[in-house]
Amino acid sequence: MSPPPRPDSIAGLERLIAALKAKGIVTEEELAARQAQTDKASPETGARMVARAWVDPAYRALLLRDGTAAAEAMGVSMAGAPPLGVLEDTPTRHHVIVCTLCSCYPRAVLGYPPPWYKSFAYRARVVREPRAVLAEWGTVLPPGVEVRVVDSTADYRWMVLPLRPAGTEGWSEGRLAALVTRDVLVGVALPQPPVAAAAE
Ligand code: FE
Repeated sequence: MSPPPRPDSIAGLERLIAALKAKGIVTEEELAARQAQTDKASPETGARMVARAWVDPAYRALLLRDGTAAAEAMGVSMAGAPPLGVLEDTPTRHHVIVCTLCSCYPRAVLGYPPPWYKSFAYRARVVREPRAVLAEWGTVLPPGVEVRVVDSTADYRWMVLPLRPAGTEGWSEGRLAALVTRDVLVGVALPQPPVAAAAE
């Protein structure tokens, strides 16, 4: 049996890489280093950044002013990564991230995007009816909350700084970070305090 045919996109990607290497724009080592970094990245990094911002006003200010510098401050190398912007949710404004064109995603701080983020259905629908899409995932926003859908692009990547849940006063950074999931960082979910803790 012959192996399955490779998609044209892979062949195109290989031609692009070969051209970039031939022109001296990237080296094999740089590509390998970037891939290793992305393989290592996970939403836990973004969650740690959010938790720190919730407890540390100076870090919060840095995060909102310069997401790239805030990531570097947490030990993440952002060399070669597109700039990172952070969108601050408020009691009257909620942010949702999409890449309408393809799958641009802040991989340096969130890791690889989930399959649904790349799906045509999400990209097409979330810009037209974000409330309906979020409600299907169980995230129901009050009518008074404005929903802003923000496009991540090749030039600028976004993540969300959600509201800190009520009832988490005095929590440690580590405990707070555990509330911040990948979906929360993209804005399709809200951080929930654990039920047991909420009942305390
Ligand atoms: Fe994209």
